[in-house]
Order: sequence, then C-alpha cells, then structure tokens
Amino acid sequence: MKQPRELSEREKWFRQRIGKVIYRNDNGCSCPACQDALKNGLVVNDEMHANYLYENECEYTAEGHPLRYFDTKEEAMEFSVQQQS
Ligand SMILES: [Zn+2]
Repeated sequence: MKQPRELSEREKWFRQRIGKVIYRNDNGCSCPACQDALKNGLVVNDEMHANYLYENECEYTAEGHPLRYFDTKEEAMEFSVQQQS
C-alpha cells in the first residue's frame, strides 16, 4: 500500500479550518461569487474542499494572481493592499 505523502504546512492550515470561516484577498473579480467570498468569507466544508482551496491558491499564485486565505478579514484586506501597491 502506498504511504500517503506528507502534507505541507499550508495544506494542514486549510484542513485545520474545516467547518470554519476563512477570508481571502481581493482578486479583482467582480462576479457575485467572488464579491460574496470577499465580503462574508467562506466556510471550509470538508477535506475535499480544503484541498480544492489549497490548489486554487497555488494555481492562481503561480499564474501571477496572488490568492491567499486568512483567518480574519483584516489580514485579507491588508494583503490586498500590499498586492495593489
Ligand atoms: Zn469571480
């Protein structure tokens, strides 16, 4: 049987927040889903969702659109400002 690979710190971060609300920085998108996530944050539903969010973060950032989730809206906003300056 294959050993599960070790999770990165960031993957653990998302898994530890299953059932909790997290916030993300402004990605500049004005669609209702993004605006809602920006304003209200989103709940990490389960392990699959945690993985999905983690992968999104990696992909967007790799494509030059930094995406990052935080515990508080304040931290997320601060990150948005840093990205825009
Ligand atoms: Zn959008």
